[in-house]
Amino acid sequence: MTGWKPVLRSVSKQFLLPGSLYLHKKEPFHLAHNIIIIGAGIGGLAAAIRLQAQGHQVSVYEAGTKPGGKLNQFFQDGFRFDAGPSLFTLPEQVEELFSLAGKNAQEEFPYESLPIITRYQYEDGTVLHAWADPKAFAQEIQEKTDDEAAQVEKFLQKSQELYGITSHVFLERSLHQLSTYLQKDTLKSMLKLHKLDAFRSMNRANKGYFSDPRVVQLFNRYATYNGSNPYVAPATLNIIAHLEHNLGAFFPKKGMYQISESLYELAVELGVSFHFGQKVDEITVSEKSVTGIRIGEIPIAADLVVSNADVVPTYRHLLASEKAPERTLTQPRSSSALIFYWGMEALFPELDLHNIFFSQDYSGEFETMWEEAGISDDPTVYLYISSKQVPDDAPAGKENWFVMINVPPQNGQNWDALVAQARKHIIAKLSRMLGRDIESLISSESVLDPRRIEAETSSYQGALYGNSSNNRFAAFLRHPNFSPRIKGLYFCGGSVHPGGGIPLCLLSARIVSDLIEKRHT
Ligand code: FAD
Repeated sequence: MTGWKPVLRSVSKQFLLPGSLYLHKKEPFHLAHNIIIIGAGIGGLAAAIRLQAQGHQVSVYEAGTKPGGKLNQFFQDGFRFDAGPSLFTLPEQVEELFSLAGKNAQEEFPYESLPIITRYQYEDGTVLHAWADPKAFAQEIQEKTDDEAAQVEKFLQKSQELYGITSHVFLERSLHQLSTYLQKDTLKSMLKLHKLDAFRSMNRANKGYFSDPRVVQLFNRYATYNGSNPYVAPATLNIIAHLEHNLGAFFPKKGMYQISESLYELAVELGVSFHFGQKVDEITVSEKSVTGIRIGEIPIAADLVVSNADVVPTYRHLLASEKAPERTLTQPRSSSALIFYWGMEALFPELDLHNIFFSQDYSGEFETMWEEAGISDDPTVYLYISSKQVPDDAPAGKENWFVMINVPPQNGQNWDALVAQARKHIIAKLSRMLGRDIESLISSESVLDPRRIEAETSSYQGALYGNSSNNRFAAFLRHPNFSPRIKGLYFCGGSVHPGGGIPLCLLSARIVSDLIEKRHT
């Protein structure tokens, strides 16, 4: 600990209003606080930067040995692999953190926009390039499928409109505070909520736009970006396509881990203190106010605590003697992932940074995953090759393959058997679709499955994105960014509002720092 002490202690008064909305009354002090953040995931790093920049003294306690949580990297037999996220949208959210600290984001965090977002391949031999330019992408669809460019443009316009309506209300602010609903732009958005397309599934809506099943499948895939099922999840999730196709996809110069690494360096420069290899055992509470944390036998005092750990273990383990919000904690979880990291002894010039090899039976794939908690024999395979952008990530003449399929959350399945079966099917599929013997080219291998994701990041059931969004009320059933019961306790990261994925985790950190600014300083 730094030995830093706050000048005065401020406690906000909380009043419960009907419908889980909370009205907070601020004490009339202006204060800096001693704040502990549990976890150095992307949400924790962003919250640390924001709160330290607001003048608080922030200490981060992380169970792992380095920053990043799921957004991590590792080295294997001469290859570098990004361990988790590979798709990067809304880079301005990262830039904003540098700007807050008075830094030049372009110098500190260089990145590029991708001319081709994804290369899609179907079992019938069709290859579609999702060009970043929406017009070129629409034209590609017109040339290679039975759908018209104009329909794609109309769909992307609708997606933009949905984003415009939802982002103020559902993404950028706390959904659980009355003040959110009293703001002018929120009220405006609320008047348009009937346009959210929440009463039909994404698949149903997409079938209304497109007649070619390959195009429907392409746009249905966006449900997997928050671990959901397009045949069940509300069509509101079509907002996700807007991010990629209207705003673009990007790539940090040195690969995805650069996001974690550069934010960590920024936080250290600002004065945040980091404590790695420190698993927090308890969030200590006295008289309904947070008092700090406990690691082993050692109590560490704090004025405010922010948990960036998954909200389920936060309640089950760190707040074991407090009343837990059961309804929130028992919602179905999002999907997890099975990833093979392969060092490949050859180059594949036809492939891109992001590649999709679609299942021939997409609805069957989701049925197996969500109804049987199993893995389809013909899964959609996502292949990410960072060495296409960062040549140093693989030795000359080789490629680093991150081969991922979506799998159900971990629930005691026989993962050894599922992983072995899936590996066989993936290799057969890629060999068939690329016309090369894939297995003979794999020289180095490691595997990440839901058990390991849960063990290494404390993500309940190995879910990638917290709760699933298969339900139209999902946004309201996520945990708020503050504790309604314990004063001084806040939450950020993918398991709480507004949800999982890098952009939303970064927004959760912004909401937390805004709440703390409003209530405690
Ligand atoms: P997490 O990454 O969940 O980290 C939480 C941290 O808290 C961990 O470091 C953990 O060790 C620490 N912790 C937990 N409990 C304790 C404790 N008791 N004491 C101390 N420390 C503790 N998102 C995208 O935007 N694009 C993608 O392409 C994408 N692909 C993904 C692929 C994979 C394989 C995975 C796993 C995720 C992917 N995601 C993607 C999702 C994205 O990675 C997550 O939503 C995001 O990184 C989660 O960040 P977080 O802030 O919730 O923290």
